[in-house]
Amino acid sequence: MDTNQSDKEIALGLEFLDNYSGKGSGTNAYRVLKQIFEFASSESAPKDDSGSVIFSWRDLQTEEDVSDDGKRLKKYLKDAIEKWPLHYERLNQDAVDRSLKYFPIIERGEMGGGAGNVTKYLIKPHPVTESTAVDKTTLPRGFISYTSETSETTNPFIRFVDGMIAKGFKLYMILGTVMLAIILAILTLMVGLYLIRVQTTTFGILSSAIDIAIIVGALYSLFSPMYFAVMNRIIIAPVYLSPSRNYSTQLEYIRTREKHKNGKPVRQFRIVSYVGECLICKSKVDVEKGRGSLSGRLIGRCADSPTEHIYTFDHQTKLGKLIHSEYLDLIDQKKITKPLS
Ligand SMILES: [Zn+2]
Repeated sequence: MDTNQSDKEIALGLEFLDNYSGKGSGTNAYRVLKQIFEFASSESAPKDDSGSVIFSWRDLQTEEDVSDDGKRLKKYLKDAIEKWPLHYERLNQDAVDRSLKYFPIIERGEMGGGAGNVTKYLIKPHPVTESTAVDKTTLPRGFISYTSETSETTNPFIRFVDGMIAKGFKLYMILGTVMLAIILAILTLMVGLYLIRVQTTTFGILSSAIDIAIIVGALYSLFSPMYFAVMNRIIIAPVYLSPSRNYSTQLEYIRTREKHKNGKPVRQFRIVSYVGECLICKSKVDVEKGRGSLSGRLIGRCADSPTEHIYTFDHQTKLGKLIHSEYLDLIDQKKITKPLS
């Protein structure tokens, strides 16, 4: 790894943080992330043989942190290091777009421990995975690529679910909660059916039926998204997990780089909005539920021609194909008039 190469990765990280305006961008975790990359881009930053920058909380210390012996800073640093991996996919894509072979990751180095020892961290160059990035230069005819926009946190449900890593206690908590919801729904149905049987008036039967429907419906709408996200890996996020009604948001259940003991990947919930650009009219393409023959699939729908300019959508490849291919002829013949602006 030559030094020049590692400088480019640090610059990539810093550029990402400069432009990042998504979830948490104003928080201390992101302020510390920026401090880390600013420190790393200084000439005096120590590097090891592999080109990794070595730092500890002391390198980020400001006057504010002196009085509490770095307590707060260490907490922010911990948050910062947890946040950085959430952006690996985007950093990987950015690195590929710039023909870089690596993007920067942050890892804990040697442990602190005894008195006077400070935990060291490393900004390491991580090889890009070209297979997970979209090579925008060689997209086949009729295809669009999607990019994911990170959601803003606008309510406590989103804060709770977004970024939740399904392992250890949290995995059991998720499984337990969904199981409990199913058991509760079954119990409600059983008690409800009994109540309906013992009613003698039509009003009694109706009101019992409505009560059951409300309880079971509420349990279903609250807990089924987690279940379907786990089963389908991506779904349209329910309203309570959408930062805005103005655009479609998705709830993903994606791989992390970690593995469980049985070799299966540790997964993580993520709330994102995938967007693309319409090939025909250049409008924004949002991901929504497919209807009719596309029922059961997620599709990309053009904001200005939502029934005609529709695309397939796959969050793994981040690609989609124009479904009504007759429009390709129009593109080829340049018969498309520019949209009104
Ligand atoms: Zn369009």
